Amino acid sequence: MATSNAGLPQKRRIVTEIPGPKSKALQERRSRAVAKGVGSVLPVYVERADRGIVQDIDGNAFIDFGSGIAVTNVGNANPEVVARASEQLARFTHTCFMVNPYEGYVEVCEALNRISPGTHEKRSILLNSGAEAVENAVKIARNATGRQAVVVFDHAYHGRTNLTMALTAKNMPYKQGFGPFAGEVYRMPMAYPFRWPTGPENCGPEAAAQAIDQITKQIGAENVAAVLIEPIQGEGGFIEPGAGFLPAIVEFCRANGIVFVADEVQTGFARTGDLFACEHEDVVPDLICTAKGIAGGLPLAAVTGRSELMDAVHGGGLGGTYGGNPAACAAALASLETIENDRLTERARAIGATMLSRLRALAERHDVIGDVRGRGAMIAIELVAGNGDRTPNPTVLAEVLKHCHANGLILLSAGTYGNVLRMLPPLVISDELLDEGLSVIEDAFARL
Ligand SMILES: *Cc1c(COP(=O)(O)O)cnc(C)c1O
Repeated sequence: MATSNAGLPQKRRIVTEIPGPKSKALQERRSRAVAKGVGSVLPVYVERADRGIVQDIDGNAFIDFGSGIAVTNVGNANPEVVARASEQLARFTHTCFMVNPYEGYVEVCEALNRISPGTHEKRSILLNSGAEAVENAVKIARNATGRQAVVVFDHAYHGRTNLTMALTAKNMPYKQGFGPFAGEVYRMPMAYPFRWPTGPENCGPEAAAQAIDQITKQIGAENVAAVLIEPIQGEGGFIEPGAGFLPAIVEFCRANGIVFVADEVQTGFARTGDLFACEHEDVVPDLICTAKGIAGGLPLAAVTGRSELMDAVHGGGLGGTYGGNPAACAAALASLETIENDRLTERARAIGATMLSRLRALAERHDVIGDVRGRGAMIAIELVAGNGDRTPNPTVLAEVLKHCHANGLILLSAGTYGNVLRMLPPLVISDELLDEGLSVIEDAFARL
């Protein structure tokens, strides 16, 4: 096939200014066609992508430290994903599972039930986006418990629909001017080790005690349908809750008939070095929301959970026209097989070890790097004023991003204060490109 990616050279190459002339022309066209509310981190228009490289229409080749926001874990246009999805597309593109079902949907649900944490009996539902998965988890938890309140945390990100905007913490840009928001949503302090007043080692237990006290006193445990949390916060700045926090919250939920929902939309599918981030502390969620890394880039999302909760909802109460599209299901099956066969959890751990050691050494040399954190191929650095002052420093972050983008590295920001540099390389990136990408980041700091 003329459009095949096979053999796209795994080399960074910058041949024009960034963005190049063709991208600039398209950006101009875009401004007259696409609503301004949709942003782009780096407006270079893509021609093709493969493993660690994204190539633009001007012939520039960028190292990918973004994976389209933790989506292309198995690599862009992964050959297995392309083959399985193409074969499915040629047989049928859509029937709507609620009209005429098909095996692929069932197979994906079986796989999710098998690989998600916990050995209990499970059921799954397939949807289109992470936000839709979170919405459905809340619907299921409310329906199954007969309760209404939903507990979320500071710095949380759960999506952009009306309910998930209410669940998301940050106002700008996600919520500004889009209210009124859904009710019965309560926000608790997050176990944020780097900024915990009594130090990171006390963070987990103290934050759990605070959250449990506030839930009990402000809402009443008996009114809470669900506690919803990202086991490592994504958009919030790769905040890994202090040790012991998640297990303590789960224990509280179990004791009070509250559904514990893990939003693993960003952390799932080998990203953190485990298949799911919850596994790190042996946390078994009652419901787990997945999307992003599930299908190698095709739109698919899921809620997987205890059969007694999932099956509590009346027939017809859950669904959607496109949920579990057959091509997306085929892609998911290929992607899950690749993750298992190619041992991508181990690969994610190796990527994490390389990134952490290089970035910790970098932090020794630059005191604006306040914290280096994360697990597997989900690593971030938090930028601060420096000299012991932990005031967030979004200015330095913007300079670093600008240098990296101009020098051929796709890199994203995060954090409530816009001061976190986050790295999410595809798990199939080569060691050479990983090292080179980190060198570009080191150069950026050297030039500050
Ligand atoms: C991206 C994300 C979502 C929303 O997913 P969409 O597919 O963009 O709707 C929800 N939760 C988390 C943790 C995410 O990272």
